[in-house]
Amino acid sequence: MSGPSGDRMIRVDMTKQTAEIVPFPDAWKLLGGRALSARILLEQCDPQCDPLGPENLLVMAPGVVSGTAAPTSGRISMGGKSPLTNGIKEANAGGNPGQDLMKLGFRCIVVSGQPKDAGKRFGLEVGADGVKVVPADAHKSKWNYKLVEDLAKQYPKTASFISIGPAGEMRLSGASIACTDQEQDRHPARHAARGGLGAVMGSKGLKYVAVDAGKARVRQPAKRKEFMELCKSYTKDYKAGPQMFKTGTSTVVPLANMLQTFPYKNRTEGQSPDVATLDGARIVESFETRGGGMHNCMTGCIVQCSNVVHDAEGKYKTSALEFETLTLLGANCAIASWEDVADLDRLCDEVGLDTIETGAAIAILMDSGGMEWGDAAGAKRILSEVAEGTELGRAIGNGAVATGKWRKHHRVPAVKGQALPAWDPRPLKATGITYLTSAMGADHTAGLIVNPGLPAEEWARASQEAQLVNAVTDSSGFCQFL
Ligand code: SF4
Repeated sequence: MSGPSGDRMIRVDMTKQTAEIVPFPDAWKLLGGRALSARILLEQCDPQCDPLGPENLLVMAPGVVSGTAAPTSGRISMGGKSPLTNGIKEANAGGNPGQDLMKLGFRCIVVSGQPKDAGKRFGLEVGADGVKVVPADAHKSKWNYKLVEDLAKQYPKTASFISIGPAGEMRLSGASIACTDQEQDRHPARHAARGGLGAVMGSKGLKYVAVDAGKARVRQPAKRKEFMELCKSYTKDYKAGPQMFKTGTSTVVPLANMLQTFPYKNRTEGQSPDVATLDGARIVESFETRGGGMHNCMTGCIVQCSNVVHDAEGKYKTSALEFETLTLLGANCAIASWEDVADLDRLCDEVGLDTIETGAAIAILMDSGGMEWGDAAGAKRILSEVAEGTELGRAIGNGAVATGKWRKHHRVPAVKGQALPAWDPRPLKATGITYLTSAMGADHTAGLIVNPGLPAEEWARASQEAQLVNAVTDSSGFCQFL
């Protein structure tokens, strides 16, 4: 069964725990990723619905060219009504599920409904033979890495996974959705993190999606020869260029600090005294003695901006330790060591939390006197408490605004209910326009402009252009770092 263009989509009803393959409407054939999830939500989701109720939809949509041989093009968008912003939210992730869904000819998965028993857990199996909702109570409350380790025994080596940790199961508003990377161990390290879409997945009782592309081949364009020539020449040009992200986003730290957009102590300052120990250059230096290094998070990525971080014994610790995480869980909490931030990053990936929202929430706790500045051990304890569901853990897991209310604190850096990312709207005014005008709220991936000297009359235009470019990129499947 297929739509006019040959593609299909998957509809999942979590009230009845059924899944069916239906034709993909021809009217949507040029839509993918963020554009597709927005279209489906606009047409089929009641804007007044409870984000964590049965009427909300969770859309998992790879980009239009995901699953093809186009370089760095396999991203997937998670979309739904956000429990943080109360608007349509999209969070984008790398890893292999987007590639695998498209190789199988599935343009999206739309999840609706909710099980009557909120204590039940389910998985969704997607493969060449069909789709099926299966019981998954045995995986209840598992942290993401343990979950994937167990799923890897249950499913073929060719499967990739989309999952939530305990934070999503508890429907906490800072919860993320994890996608496994392309490494043999399939680490659940790539997160569609922003907007609390992990809570939406949790509200549907869906613990994981297993996508087994099996022997499915990459998608073939109509004009294969021309397409392959274009891919080759683009790759050649890219490799001959400056490759800005070849050491990852973490090495942006000194530049951001210089531009006053490396927030310190709940954004009371724009620069951190710990810039040297949080600089991603320290992570790059660690590769020589500990192993790890730069890798591609999904197959076909030529940028390879993702770092793989090892501990002092040379064992895998986390991936990827990004600029945003070093800022929000590091400088913004006055935590000075990149190694502590690496531990916190791993814990967020395990429990299934957005590192930006969580770092902002912990900084508010510290700023309001609930914890000492720089208390890395305390921050790690809190992340375990999120999984245990304590009052403190739930407040932090629900994000910056919830923590601010709980602490009755006056300084809560958020826009439309969502914590500000590292890129600060005070020096970067045009980026501030993006935070205010985009449906995505305070999300730099909606339209970042790193140009502090931009004249005021240019801010709105620059923001609009960046928002359009980023919306197209997030709909195409290409990574914004290409
Ligand atoms: S550029 Fe980086 S984040 Fe983007 S797909 Fe490649 S490794 Fe992943």
